[in-house]
Amino acid sequence: MSTIASISTAPGIGGIGIVRISGENTFKIIERIFRPKTQSSIDEIKGYTLKYGNIIENGNIIDEVLVSYFKAPKSYTTENMCEINSHGGNIIVKKILELCLKNGADLAEPGEFTKRAFLNGRIDLAQAESVIDVINAKSDREVQSGIKQLEGYLSKEIKSIKKEILNVLVNAEVSIDYPEYDIPEVQEKEIREMIENVKSKLEKLEKSFDNGKIIKDGIKTAIIGKPNSGKSSLLNAILKEERAIVTDIAGTTRDTIEEFVNINGIPLKLVDTAGIRETSDEVEKIGVKKSIKQAEEADLIIAIFDASKELTQEDLEILKLIERKESIILLNKVDLKTIITEKDERLKNSSANILKISALNKIGIEDLYNKISEMFNLNKINFDNEILITNIRHKNIISKALENIRKVEESLNNNMPIDIITIYIKEILENLSEITGEAVTEDVINEIFSKFCLGK
Ligand code: GDP
Repeated sequence: MSTIASISTAPGIGGIGIVRISGENTFKIIERIFRPKTQSSIDEIKGYTLKYGNIIENGNIIDEVLVSYFKAPKSYTTENMCEINSHGGNIIVKKILELCLKNGADLAEPGEFTKRAFLNGRIDLAQAESVIDVINAKSDREVQSGIKQLEGYLSKEIKSIKKEILNVLVNAEVSIDYPEYDIPEVQEKEIREMIENVKSKLEKLEKSFDNGKIIKDGIKTAIIGKPNSGKSSLLNAILKEERAIVTDIAGTTRDTIEEFVNINGIPLKLVDTAGIRETSDEVEKIGVKKSIKQAEEADLIIAIFDASKELTQEDLEILKLIERKESIILLNKVDLKTIITEKDERLKNSSANILKISALNKIGIEDLYNKISEMFNLNKINFDNEILITNIRHKNIISKALENIRKVEESLNNNMPIDIITIYIKEILENLSEITGEAVTEDVINEIFSKFCLGK
């Protein structure tokens, strides 16, 4: 494999920048561009050591750097690797990368270091995929679940399921060699037991995706209410208090700004907050019509009402809208003299969750967070013992495997010959191997790593 190089730190101004090199010629390239303060041959330099010195081009010092050495196979990619720690900023780091390229390295593609770690067998595909999850994480819990996957918890579970299947498959294959016999009863029992076991494990994993999805994508939340009920005040109260992460998807309009807030470690993805913000103009304030669209898309609706005024026709329409959805009713402006209360039947008929708040004075915001945690069982997700599926690719593969399990069950019930049954059992094994990457096409691999950032 070629020797690759890339800038691994984020672009922009920063204290330090890192250029990474991996491959056979790493140390040769470093020798050409790096002049350490204390010279030593590469054989004398141990892996995991740092050397201090200068990057040199045509006798001129480009920067003062620290170079770390990793010797194959003990590196991220399992190849010889170096990381050049230079001063940050836009110029120096680029310059050092250019020097590496001039001296024989190829520019790394996005994710290529991690791809090599996978291709060289240091990590499996599920572990490699978790690297990108950890980097892109928007909350503590997402990091936690990513790190667990990186450590191999999911892979171990998949491997143990595969082993269970394989043990039974080996016995079944023996019977195929003696086709004159029917499937012995003991063997049918063995297959049924295995299938039952594997099914329950896979179903558990498939189900964990509900929580996994929440952790990864956030709970899509719409804040709705008629004009002047207090939507933007609530938004401000939430955003001021929480660490909000605003992701502006490149090349799109303000309308698609996604805003994430962390509620007890789980991201809420606020829908169309740009729309709420644009409401300084009285005429432009969001009407109920727009709320309908938002409500349809949301996993959670926070419906806000001005408790100091009688419910209007518009309020009643909103109440109708949330009837069949996960919703929280907020009675806002409780600092004023209130007219409607949580005992109001019209409210109680629409939602089981009614809270009193004052968005302006930030009263009751904590209760709102607790309510959300309670509704989505956020406190019950057990991060220590539970393996969570957060990746849709994994989820789809598990669903496919479960389909094949049903086929095995059907075939057994219909007294199909053993060789047919083993075909489906092998399919299950094949499915599971796609998660860890023993059986995936190059296209799938390329697709996965293309989503990585440069230098990882
Ligand atoms: P929106 O149109 O739903 O976004 O409502 P705003 O957040 O713009 O609020 C409308 C008006 O109600 C503003 O003048 C706010 O200051 C006021 N308001 C919002 N929340 C409260 C509250 O809790 N108490 C009081 N007294 N006024 C509030």
